[in-house]
Amino acid sequence: MNDCLFCKMVAGDITPDVVFENDEFLAFNDINPQAPTHVLIIPKRHISTLNDTDDALLLGNLLQLSAQLSKQLNVAEIGYRVVINCNAHGGQAVYHLHMHLLAGRQMLWPPG
Ligand code: 5GP
Ligand code: ZN
Repeated sequence: MNDCLFCKMVAGDITPDVVFENDEFLAFNDINPQAPTHVLIIPKRHISTLNDTDDALLLGNLLQLSAQLSKQLNVAEIGYRVVINCNAHGGQAVYHLHMHLLAGRQMLWPPG
């Protein structure tokens, strides 16, 4: 997608602070972190929202990758939160599917 911020990162037009990359996913630090660790994990293929895919393998890999990165970032044992915001009420701001991996402080429940 030409005008998609995260597609521009995948294409290399914008260079995020990358923490992991493979053929399917890119993970980078959030520019406005909400916790000491705040990583965004995105599929390289453009998918606008969680509503726009039935690719169970990709979604499973995304979840597995979040757990793998939590180990790489040394937060697996203390704990972390993964979040996907979808559409307006979900608080989605960037319409390229992404998972937030948040850690490094006590997470609150319920979320705001
Ligand atoms: P959403 O609300 O769509 O789930 O989250 C979008 C996230 O993208 C926000 O946490 C926001 O801080 C992050 N973000 C927006 N623009 C940029 C950017 O240019 N670079 C990085 N690294 N993160 C961004
Ligand atoms: Zn995109």
